[in-house]
Amino acid sequence: MDTHRESYSMDEIIAFAKEKGFVFQSSDIYGGLAGAYDFGPQGVELLNKLKKSWWQEVVYRKKNYYGLDSAMFKHPKVWEASGHVSGFSDPMAECRECNTRIRVDKELEKVGVSADEKISEAEINELFAAHRDKIHCPKCKGNDFTEAKAFNLLVRSNLGDFTSQNSNPVYLPGEACQGIYLNYKNVLDSVHPKIPFGIAQIGKAFRNEISPRNFLFRTREFEQADIQYFVKPGENTEAFEKIKEERMAWYKKIGLREENLRFKQHENLVFYASDAWDIEYNFPSYGFDEVEGIHDRTDYDLTQHQKFSGVDLSYNDNGEKYIPYIIETSMGLGRVFLALLSSAYERETFEGGDERRVLRLKPSLAPITAAIFPLTKKDGLPEIADDIFAELSSHFHVSYSESGSVGKRYRKADEVGTPFCITVDYDTKDDKKVTVRHRDSMQQERVAIDELVDYITRHLKD
Ligand code: ATP
Repeated sequence: MDTHRESYSMDEIIAFAKEKGFVFQSSDIYGGLAGAYDFGPQGVELLNKLKKSWWQEVVYRKKNYYGLDSAMFKHPKVWEASGHVSGFSDPMAECRECNTRIRVDKELEKVGVSADEKISEAEINELFAAHRDKIHCPKCKGNDFTEAKAFNLLVRSNLGDFTSQNSNPVYLPGEACQGIYLNYKNVLDSVHPKIPFGIAQIGKAFRNEISPRNFLFRTREFEQADIQYFVKPGENTEAFEKIKEERMAWYKKIGLREENLRFKQHENLVFYASDAWDIEYNFPSYGFDEVEGIHDRTDYDLTQHQKFSGVDLSYNDNGEKYIPYIIETSMGLGRVFLALLSSAYERETFEGGDERRVLRLKPSLAPITAAIFPLTKKDGLPEIADDIFAELSSHFHVSYSESGSVGKRYRKADEVGTPFCITVDYDTKDDKKVTVRHRDSMQQERVAIDELVDYITRHLKD
């Protein structure tokens, strides 16, 4: 058997994602809306299972982590305190020949100069001037550019505004984590955690990206899974190292291959940060790029919110008062979803030329855990299969199909990554057993109907 692992392009994976109901362009029937995507019947299952795996890791498996789900809309002052109103921007320059806009930090990166997009306009212009001769316009190939200017990425809403000025807009969240800082005191006062402790949240973020591109990789609406870990100043470096390793271990646990993962340290740090690393994944066609940022943000966020709100946000550590340092991890769910899809996708050719597409997702992440097939539509087999569906569906997400040959039904299940196919045949009537066929090995075994739940549960364990 031959697998074509090296030859898959991102275009093939994007087409597959649409064809099989994983991801659709938003507002497809109107020609699409740039930078927004919808998750289809298979996609929503994978996305939910990805979230569940993360939540289990960072909330349930820890004694000192707490979950949160904060409102998307926040007081306008939040985004002033966070620095987003004045400084949440991408540095853009315009080609003087053809007016194409480039993102200067990304172009610098391509020529080997690392520039965090959050450094000041003056700093990025210094780097841009020093390396300008190496940067060319992607459209006309010229290299006569304007200076880099900061374009704010925050998306405004008119929530609660009934005037025509909208002078004090409520913004959509530019990042999900602000809700955690805002609720740090509420969590302290309600569940009384002792430092160090973490708060985890999954939330939507919106950014006016100038050029959304690369499918789910750079969108204007996306979801982030964030941890903010509150530590005593001085204990941040050790905590940072531990969290970095834990996060990398989780990516391997969800099935991404080690050789496609790496750390990258930021060189030009934003002024308040003491350390920052990215976890990068090696995407087909795009190469290595960021899926998660891990930042030592010192006491910046809580100090800012204390200043702007006038509320004391210090922690009382047995009489010693201080503003905790924060280690942040922020993962883009769309990017990790795309990493999973592209790493699991395979096209196999068997001897004789027969082909199958198979999604080798970890069984616990597969959109459908088991597919149930009666061999035929008659002789009482659908009734037995129905009973099995009723029993299994209260434990797992299962599907049911009675049309087409069993071979064709297997292929369809393989394509969406279903790890177990359960066939009810004529022997089932006598021995009360079914054939369980495994997605990856394609091997089959007979399993008693009343052992199916235990059998599948055993195979889903990490
Ligand atoms: P980039 O440098 O790629 O713009 P970033 O450093 O601005 O990313 P963060 O603000 O640290 O990203 O956000 C944390 C995570 O959110 C990123 O690691 C990424 O996975 C995800 N993310 C950020 N921007 C986008 C986007 N436009 N589309 C999809 N995911 C995003």
